[in-house]
Amino acid sequence: MSNKFSLLMVSIAATVATLTGGTANATENCPIALTFDDGPGPYTNQVVDALAAHGARATFFMVGNRMQTYSGAAQHVVATGNQLGNHSWQHDQLTLKSAQAAADDINRTQASIAAVTGVTPLIMRPPYGETNNAIVAAVGMPEILWSIDTRDWATHNTQSTINSVISNAHCGAIVLMHDIHSSTAAAVWPILDNLQSRGFSMVTVQDLIGTPPTGRYYHQ
Ligand SMILES: [Zn+2]
Repeated sequence: MSNKFSLLMVSIAATVATLTGGTANATENCPIALTFDDGPGPYTNQVVDALAAHGARATFFMVGNRMQTYSGAAQHVVATGNQLGNHSWQHDQLTLKSAQAAADDINRTQASIAAVTGVTPLIMRPPYGETNNAIVAAVGMPEILWSIDTRDWATHNTQSTINSVISNAHCGAIVLMHDIHSSTAAAVWPILDNLQSRGFSMVTVQDLIGTPPTGRYYHQ
């Protein structure tokens, strides 16, 4: 990860650790934000139903040109209390575009998400996590990265995805997954069972850190 620009780390995790006794496994009232990128897609409803059955919420960073095809799934995400984020129009790497083109890309996606769901996202996640100061300034939205990368897109393995989350889970974590893979959708129910049994509460990014000012953020 580049250090050419400032990387702001929100310190809520330390606060939560203090409130919960400060030990790694003291997970009572310990919030964690599951995030799902690259949808909506054919497995999004499976993810949403698993969340709803557990009374859990998550954040979905959606791709603009998929909204019409999977409009029902996108609406289901919203109707069940989950948060939406912007993940660009067609998953282009924004740092390969001019700042103006990147801003246009994100704005077009905002309009697409709003047209289908009625919700205009307050946060975005740059594809591949690739961003820079010019993109941040041009886009003008908080850029939400992650603290646990499951690499579900590479393994396409349900058990590997489950293990990645449950072995790395910590208070205040932001977990990166992708709801366009059936292997990930199948992992969500067992992940939720495990985390809830350990006292974690699965919340949206909004509930974890609010809407931070513009800049790059991830969460420990
Ligand atoms: Zn992505």
